[in-house]
Amino acid sequence: MINLPEGFIDIIYLISVIAFVFGIKFLGSPKTARRGNLLSMIGMAIGATVSIFDESVSRYDLIAAGLVASAVIGIVMAKTVKMTGMPQMVALLNGFGGLSSYLVASAEYFSKESAITDDMIVYVSMLLSFLIGMVTFTGSLVAAGKLQEIITGRAVIFPLQKTLNLVMAIAAIVCGVLLYNELSGSGSDALLYFAIVSGLSAILGVTLVIPIGGADMPVVVSLLNSYSGIAVAMTGFVLGNNALIVVGSLVGASGMILTNIMCKAMNRSLANVLFGGFGAAPAAGTDTGAGQIQGTVKSMSAEESAMLMDVAETVIIVPGYGMAVSQAQHVVKKLTDYLMKKGTKVRFAIHPVAGRMPGHMNVLLAEAGVDYDLLADMDQINDDFINTDITIVIGANDVVNPAAKENPASPIYGMPVLNVEQSKTVLVLKRSMNPGFAGIDNELFYKDNTMMVFGDAKKTVEGFISGLQELE
Ligand code: NDP
Repeated sequence: MINLPEGFIDIIYLISVIAFVFGIKFLGSPKTARRGNLLSMIGMAIGATVSIFDESVSRYDLIAAGLVASAVIGIVMAKTVKMTGMPQMVALLNGFGGLSSYLVASAEYFSKESAITDDMIVYVSMLLSFLIGMVTFTGSLVAAGKLQEIITGRAVIFPLQKTLNLVMAIAAIVCGVLLYNELSGSGSDALLYFAIVSGLSAILGVTLVIPIGGADMPVVVSLLNSYSGIAVAMTGFVLGNNALIVVGSLVGASGMILTNIMCKAMNRSLANVLFGGFGAAPAAGTDTGAGQIQGTVKSMSAEESAMLMDVAETVIIVPGYGMAVSQAQHVVKKLTDYLMKKGTKVRFAIHPVAGRMPGHMNVLLAEAGVDYDLLADMDQINDDFINTDITIVIGANDVVNPAAKENPASPIYGMPVLNVEQSKTVLVLKRSMNPGFAGIDNELFYKDNTMMVFGDAKKTVEGFISGLQELE
């Protein structure tokens, strides 16, 4: 056994924490994001490696087996997951983070038993690790199941749901207090209370996430990410491990900030996302305003669209989830290069919640090598659509739905959207008239200046390029 002195381990932990802090800072800009990722990975490797030399570690064989097994699973998952499956993967990773906090705190509980009550801070932290860790685990499994469509993506709502959740949360805390009393006294019922706290937390994770549906799932994933960080920080207090406390707090805080950014982008409060039941099946007779859409849908071929593009001076491309599904980013880059070469001004309008996770579109376009300078956030570009010849909407739907501005009966009313309908012509690339993630019809498709170009986005963009080439 090699045991390093505690002071030395703490210094290494400090270095690893500094790597995380700068890693997150670098992740703030697409230009430095790769460096940020690498630095954070190094921080994690240093922190994890040095923890093996802690004096409390007694079984290297188990650590080695766990490391090998998890590395294999991690590599296979990362290599095989499709870009469209990333939100589910992130949800699962959060869930496993929560589960490990729960298991580590449980191991501490079983090894110390009554001694765990000696320090009130440690005891309360352990209880919070159980609660938050388990809620994160089961909640994330439900979120991943919804995103993967293994279970219904809709909000599942039943009478007295919020009351039931509140009662379960209070009951779990009361059992935590009873567990403390048991451990301080005879301890005969301690295991029972431990099981009740764990069971109630597991059920709470499910019942807190099932009423959230449709378009709100990525917000929940971000919130669960924050919870997993808080659970890690609590476990840090249980173990007296400074690195876990700092890193858990970083994850907890950054997850909260991201959740807040997404809520703002949808013009909704977090309470509305968590308890509003958005995305539930509409009750019979509910008016969502969909039936009131006026106008007819017009469509054209990719070749005809190329003729319009050929004479356009300004083009804005609006990518959405469909671009990720069809993996069209590389041909979109080709089209951009082609148009720019012939003197067309091309820019990309990035809605903060386009796709299925924050930064989804930025990641795809960066992967295809699109210049960052061509990308504009919604606030920067929204006033420019009015002076734009053609807006090409590639697999985006909810984020370009004018109902959010014009129709108070729409479930997405109030969500900031891109003003694409203000441009002279709008080309919408999608396969059918099916709705987007929010499950609602889109008034944009019926506007006089909108042309639908039906088909898989990648094939359609390829058609644009060959059409433009033929016109040369
Ligand atoms: P949407 O889900 O609204 O629409 C995507 C569209 O892509 C669909 O209408 C679909 O139409 C089309 N599509 C799918 N596959 C293809 C394909 N192969 N080729 C062409 N088109 C395709 O996506 P948006 O990006 O506009 O909106 C994102 C939604 O997610 C919003 O509701 C947002 O609130 C929600 N959300 C996102 C978050 C994030 O972090 N990004 C966070 C919270 C919520 P069809 O089937 O007819 O092809």
